[in-house]
Amino acid sequence: MNVHEFQGKSLLKAYNVDIQEGFIAETPEQAVTVAEQLHEKVGSEFFVVKAQIHAGGRGKGGGVKLAKSVVDVGRISSQMLGMQLVTPQTGPEGKKVNKVLVAQDVYYRGESETEEYYISLLLNRDKGRYIVAYSPEGGMSIEEVAEKSPDLIFTEEIDPGMGLQQFQTRNIAFKLGLSGIAFKNMQKFLSGLYETFIGCDAQLLEINPVLKTSDDRILAVDCKLVLDDNALFRHPDLLAMRDLNEEDPVDVEAGKHNLNFVKLDGNVGCMVNGAGLAMATMDIIKLSGGSPANFLDVGGGASPKTVEAGFRIILKDPAVKAILINIFGGIVRCDRVANGVVEAYKSIGEIRVPVIVRLQGTNAEEAKKTIDNSGLAVFSAISFREAAELVAKILNKKN
Ligand code: GDP
Ligand code: MN
Repeated sequence: MNVHEFQGKSLLKAYNVDIQEGFIAETPEQAVTVAEQLHEKVGSEFFVVKAQIHAGGRGKGGGVKLAKSVVDVGRISSQMLGMQLVTPQTGPEGKKVNKVLVAQDVYYRGESETEEYYISLLLNRDKGRYIVAYSPEGGMSIEEVAEKSPDLIFTEEIDPGMGLQQFQTRNIAFKLGLSGIAFKNMQKFLSGLYETFIGCDAQLLEINPVLKTSDDRILAVDCKLVLDDNALFRHPDLLAMRDLNEEDPVDVEAGKHNLNFVKLDGNVGCMVNGAGLAMATMDIIKLSGGSPANFLDVGGGASPKTVEAGFRIILKDPAVKAILINIFGGIVRCDRVANGVVEAYKSIGEIRVPVIVRLQGTNAEEAKKTIDNSGLAVFSAISFREAAELVAKILNKKN
């Protein structure tokens, strides 16, 4: 699960990591009030207005702007709020800006005296260790640094049993070229980042840029935090940060019904139980000359309700020209799935594409009878290959 920059920063702050202070606003009026508060609290003269969307590269797309007065904050946020922000990470349709973060300008006394770094923490599953990836070349995208100067990206491996050690924070601060107070502040900053990463069960914590201010403070100016979905059950406070506006509505719908759904760009919708069978189904569709429109695992206990939800989700994709249902009746009985298909047909009304059903396993015979007697235009198949070839035949006929 992704969270917004302002949410990530509030967590960093709770773990004693210094951040660029700011407040959230949903209207230009709120933005102005917030700027006035910031002026009182931290003495800001200049501010930055930052669009809160789940995508990076906002600076490049006009989603991060410097305001030189409170009035400026009002003007900039009225432009930014409600806009469809396009960045290198949003795709051409962009993302709607519903909130802005109004933050203190931390690049005071001229940019020449400040330094930007890149620091991220992530899990390396192959090694079973956490990794700190860092670079003195912060501010720009890390992909750019990797291309231009890969020798300036360093890593430090952390043994999860030992945690981040002092010699490691010293090593990192040293390679970033720091000394004196800034060196000490960087060590504290790194320890705080690690605490945040572990405390939130994060999958990725990326701060780009980390800023050394002209008075040697080390601050998180940006924050990308990705939480491990499998650990969210023990963080109800973090789960509450979920912003459904930022997620694909189809994924949200699939999640509600416990369906594992991944959209693909083919034309055959697939409804399958079990991830292995779903993969095999996609393979055989390809072999028969079709192309899967999605991966959909309805899970072990598919009920008529899940089947209906699966149908509705698949049918939302206009590219779908046929649907293949491939169910192995192990735990779930085939007759139950067949009933699900019939009921889904009834409640959806007309299904605009041909449906091919292959049900094998417990009560397969009964299931076939249910489908054949339903009077619905459903093609049933017994063997796997037969089902896939039927799909290909139907697609070719239509073309
Ligand atoms: P991103 O583009 O989505 O990664 O958003 P960031 O939060 O990283 O901001 C983009 C860029 O805006 C940063 O790399 C900074 O150069 C700049 N920026 C951020 N905060 C400030 C600020 O307080 N003052 C000034 N002058 N620039 C800032
Ligand atoms: Mn950034």
